[in-house]
Amino acid sequence: MNISKPLALTLGLTVAAAAVIAADGKLGYTTTPMIPGTQWHVHDGDRPQPRVVTPGESFSHGAKPPSDAIVLFDGKDLSKWKSGGGEAKWKVADGFMEVSPKGGSIQTKDRFADFQLHLEFATPIEVKGTGQGRGNSGVLFNGIYEVQVLDCYNNQTYPDGQTGGLYGQTPPLVNACKPPGTWQSYDIIWESPRWDADKKLVKKAAVTVIHNGVVLHHRKELTGPTPHQQNGVYKPHDPEMFIELQDHSNPTRFRNIWLRKLGEYDKPEMPK
Ligand code: MG
Repeated sequence: MNISKPLALTLGLTVAAAAVIAADGKLGYTTTPMIPGTQWHVHDGDRPQPRVVTPGESFSHGAKPPSDAIVLFDGKDLSKWKSGGGEAKWKVADGFMEVSPKGGSIQTKDRFADFQLHLEFATPIEVKGTGQGRGNSGVLFNGIYEVQVLDCYNNQTYPDGQTGGLYGQTPPLVNACKPPGTWQSYDIIWESPRWDADKKLVKKAAVTVIHNGVVLHHRKELTGPTPHQQNGVYKPHDPEMFIELQDHSNPTRFRNIWLRKLGEYDKPEMPK
């Protein structure tokens, strides 16, 4: 979800989504726009559910970062993060950070273009809510391109909003969720979109997502930003972008966050 919207609106949409599921027994929507290049509506509940895969023991859980990694969270403090124009105020304890519901999403102070990102998350051990209301958070790039974080362990929702889904666009290839309260890993390889001097899009964003050692997306292009119930439209921006962890009012935890830049990045002159 595009959380640049006011938080109240975000929460309102979440409640609305739950109401749709409860009222008619469907998992998603059929009145939303068609996703370009597919036969499906945005958040289409009739889209096939990703096959469930029980992940093995991921080698990267709790592992020490590589020597050239930029550490974004080492379990001690939120010094690399901010929230809007102010301080990030999520709880930090016992080596993890936890979403402070209604405390706002948090963003990295630094910006990056193309990178390998590692993070670990645990959805709340106390299971509450259904569908999009259970353990919802997200990893967003520039606050507009979301890789969903959700508890989809015995919890169905519309496929393009499942754990690791490119929200509103592409469901994960499989559902590799571990149980609530268990540490899980995302290894995400992100390539930012590019525009030329005439503001023409010359490269879409592309992402590879590995969840608990299982591939969910392999260099999948995004059709644009990932707003709720809509098709996002690319608008030129600096390829160097912040990374955001979403406050969706569920106390999801994160730990061991680091990234490695991919190659050299020559900063182009942005279109005026
Ligand atoms: Mg989310």
